[in-house]
Amino acid sequence: MPKKASVLGVVAGLAVIAPLLAACTGDRAPAGDRPVVLTTFTVLADIAENVAGDHLEVRSITKAGAEIHGYEPTPGDIAKASEADLILDNGLNLELWFSQFVESVDVPHVVVSEGVDVLDISEDAYAGTPNPHAWMSPASAQLYVDNMVEAFSDLEPEHADDFRANGDAYKAQLQDIQDELVGELAALPENERALVTCEGAFSYLARDAGLTEAYIWPVNAEQQATPQQIAATIEFVRDNDVPAVFCESTVSDRPMQQVVEATGATFGGTLYVDSLSEEGGPVPTYLDLLRHDVDTIVAALTGGDR
Ligand SMILES: [Zn+2]
Repeated sequence: MPKKASVLGVVAGLAVIAPLLAACTGDRAPAGDRPVVLTTFTVLADIAENVAGDHLEVRSITKAGAEIHGYEPTPGDIAKASEADLILDNGLNLELWFSQFVESVDVPHVVVSEGVDVLDISEDAYAGTPNPHAWMSPASAQLYVDNMVEAFSDLEPEHADDFRANGDAYKAQLQDIQDELVGELAALPENERALVTCEGAFSYLARDAGLTEAYIWPVNAEQQATPQQIAATIEFVRDNDVPAVFCESTVSDRPMQQVVEATGATFGGTLYVDSLSEEGGPVPTYLDLLRHDVDTIVAALTGGDR
C-alpha cells in the first residue's frame, strides 16, 4: 500500500531531524513538567503507562470504545499531537489515518510493532497485507514493550534503568498471561477449537493457541458485512458445528446475530480487541482485556455442550 511507503518516508525524515527536535523539547515545559507520549489508541496507552511509570505523561488520541481503523482525526487531535514529545503508533496498517496525521506535526514517532512476526490477511481486498492486531498475542506484545523501553530511553536517558525494570516486570506478567491463555485454549476439545468473530482480529492468538479462526470481515475498516461474507460465515459454522460465535466491542453485532439465527449457534459474548473499556467497565487495562476475552471464549465454547 502507498501509505506504508509514506510512513517509512516520514520515519526516515524524522530520524534526521529528531536530534534537533530533542534539543528543542528539552526547553519545553509541558503540563505537569513530564514529557508527553501520545499513542494512537487505548491499548497502546495502557502498555506505555506500565513502561513509563511516573516519568512520562501518556495520552491516547482515540478514546475508550472508539473505532480505530477508520478514525478521522480532528483539528484538536492535531493540536494535541503537536505538543507531544513522542508519538507511538501500532503500524501494520492499523491506523489507516496515521501517515497523513503524523506528517502534519513535527514530532518524532515510533512504530511499536517493529520486529513482530507478522501474519498476513488472506481474504478480500486486504489479502497479502499485514494483519495489524499483533497485540492480541501477549508473546508478540512483549516486543511492543521492548520498543517502548528503547523509545522512552532515547527520550529520557536519565530514566532508562527504570524503563528497563518496568518493561521487564510487565513482560513477565505478559508471559504469565500467555502461558495461562494458551493453556486454557489448547485444552478445548478438538471440535470446539474454532473461533468465529466479526473481525479477523484474533489471528495471532489463534496461531499461538492452535485455534481455527473464521470471521465475517478481515478488518473493521470495511464497516459493513456483505451478504457473501455472512453466507460464508454461516457455512463455516454449520460445517464445523461451531457451538458459539462472538463479536468485537467496537462494531455492531447485528451481522453476527444473523449467523446465530441461521445456524442455531449461541452468541458467546462481546470480545475486546481494538479498545479498552472506560474505567469501571469490564476491561480497563490491556491485561484485563486479554483475560476477559479468553474467559469469554472458553466459557462459551465449552458451556453449550451440544
Ligand atoms: Zn481491529
